[in-house]
Amino acid sequence: MDDLTLAESTLISRLATISGVDPDLPPVLLGLEWINDGISENDKLALGLLALLDQPTAEIVAAVPWFITAPAEDQEINLLKATARLFNSSPALSVQVANMDFFRDSVERHDVSAVDAIKTLNQDPEDWATLTKQSWYKDGITDDEAVVLTVLPGQAKSVPTDYQSLVDNRFYMEKTTAPLPPSGSVDLYLVRFLEHQTESATMTHLRSAVLAIENYMGFPLPVKEIIMLFSTNIDAGGINYGTHFTLDLSEDASLPQLIEGGIVHEITHFYRVMDSSWFGEGTANFLATQVGFDLYNQEVAPGSNRSSCPNDVTNITEIAAAYPGYYPEPIVHRFCYHNYGEKIIRGLKAAMDDGPFHAAWREIFQTNIEEDRKFTDAEIYQLFLKHTPTDRISRVNKVFVQLHGGDFVASP
Ligand SMILES: [Zn+2]
Repeated sequence: MDDLTLAESTLISRLATISGVDPDLPPVLLGLEWINDGISENDKLALGLLALLDQPTAEIVAAVPWFITAPAEDQEINLLKATARLFNSSPALSVQVANMDFFRDSVERHDVSAVDAIKTLNQDPEDWATLTKQSWYKDGITDDEAVVLTVLPGQAKSVPTDYQSLVDNRFYMEKTTAPLPPSGSVDLYLVRFLEHQTESATMTHLRSAVLAIENYMGFPLPVKEIIMLFSTNIDAGGINYGTHFTLDLSEDASLPQLIEGGIVHEITHFYRVMDSSWFGEGTANFLATQVGFDLYNQEVAPGSNRSSCPNDVTNITEIAAAYPGYYPEPIVHRFCYHNYGEKIIRGLKAAMDDGPFHAAWREIFQTNIEEDRKFTDAEIYQLFLKHTPTDRISRVNKVFVQLHGGDFVASP
């Protein structure tokens, strides 16, 4: 016998695992073209994930059209991962879901979040009973319904009345595909409780906002679809859940979101550049202001600009020590990091000048997306410093010393 390549031996061990689960499946899999023409990383992952399922689920998954043609896209691997998570929590449910239209037809971001949503909702008996008695659930989830499923767990937890309205089909959904010349397009979904005529002003704003954001960034948005819900939870403001974002209903009717920049702020949170709040929130406010100028030629007034910071601290290092948490307590200081973050970013733009600032900005976000990397405060500082002209370095240091206060900053 010739030596096996690593890929071939991986394939054999995966198939052996699968044959332990279902002896009929390996011959079927060996008949697939993508398994016979050499094994890629994603091929290995897909087979490994299939091996985690039991016989009924694996057989259905192996027969869906996108699996037969090759689960080559990351999104397809993500859907297999979500299926394995659901299978772990309920094998019976994973069979049902793998048979549904939204799962079989095509693989989008919302299909992955819908499978996770089913797993989450299944863990709360009351939420689950409410959902599963609906005919739209019972007759199988369609693609549009998968979009609604995406927003359900967040509302079930924070706004039960919204959960009930959504489950009862008392909502409106607008969807459109917005062309983005640099990267192709992005699918936009807007779910809301107020009736609207044809295309709403909010959708028009969303459509132009994604284009303005991508133009400013200079590279593709990190997501190919955006799901937005106007929540009736007035106190919540905006929340980005990673899968979608919500904005409170008070911003629906009269479009103050054009003034407050809430939509752009929340879209910006799809860039996950770091875990601490100042840079992420500062970026979101900075971009909201920038896009407000680009689109409407007017100053937006993010809520954070009106948020006060504690008087006994002078930079974010001192705030972090004295007022722990992502949102410093009490509530009047809630947006203090937003405030400082935007000040630091604006300060850097002025200190570095537009060209070098934009080069640093682009490197930070592009590395974040392409390498899936998050940064520490010190790394953010270094990335800005790297693009700063020599005669402006002391100005940049001054911004960090005064407003950040981290010990990684050289003294100006
Ligand atoms: Zn935010």
